[in-house]
Amino acid sequence: MEILKCEGITKVYGTGENKVTALNNVDLSIDKGEFVAIVGSSGSGKSTLLHLLGGVDKPTDGKMWVEDTELSTLNPTSAAIFRRRKVGLIYQFYNLIPTLTVRRNILLPMLLDKRKPDQDYFNQIVESLGMKEKLDCLPSQLSGGQQQRTAIARSLLYRPALLLADEPTGNLDQKNSREIIEMLKLSNKSLKQTVVLITHDEKIALEADRIITIEDGKILSDKKLGRG
Ligand code: ADP
Repeated sequence: MEILKCEGITKVYGTGENKVTALNNVDLSIDKGEFVAIVGSSGSGKSTLLHLLGGVDKPTDGKMWVEDTELSTLNPTSAAIFRRRKVGLIYQFYNLIPTLTVRRNILLPMLLDKRKPDQDYFNQIVESLGMKEKLDCLPSQLSGGQQQRTAIARSLLYRPALLLADEPTGNLDQKNSREIIEMLKLSNKSLKQTVVLITHDEKIALEADRIITIEDGKILSDKKLGRG
């Protein structure tokens, strides 16, 4: 089942001499449950694509759908609701609130949305991420890997249609990077979570089901990998 579709997506920043075409007429389709790695050199348009998919920014041209939502038609309020409910964004830096415990950081988007979290699902996520013992800690009491796991738990709790990760291991050592990728794979397998991951690390990209290479704002190659 298709969960994401882009048709002729173009994104231009600036005007005149400062004009940059970050994405140039990109078509893309991703199925539910896929684990997709996006690779490409710096400045090729990877983060721009992720921001558009996450409803953080709008394309200059083209259309994109996540499930049945057509993103370019959203007004600012619906775009904010879309971002909160349909996508989980994970960055290199974890964007946790320093004064809130791990538990409250994970629950925050739900509380802001006046939703009641599913306690069983909450327990399942924190246990599978190994964060059960740390729920009452503040972010400053955690390692980088644990902070990133908290950010992942926060995203997963919402059961987003898409989990979008921009270099999520860019700030971590090899051991913690490995663990974070294992967590993302686990959420992909056991929760059928669709994951789109930007990475410059070839080894990490090879863990995905599919590798999309972007160059100069275009898809240069799109390869499915056999699993197992
Ligand atoms: P990547 O993530 O592959 O490094 P980006 O998507 O960040 O690439 O950037 C693609 C191109 O768009 C680059 O030339 C970059 O300088 C430009 N760009 C990205 N964001 C902006 C912005 N907000 N304003 C102007 N140019 C931008």
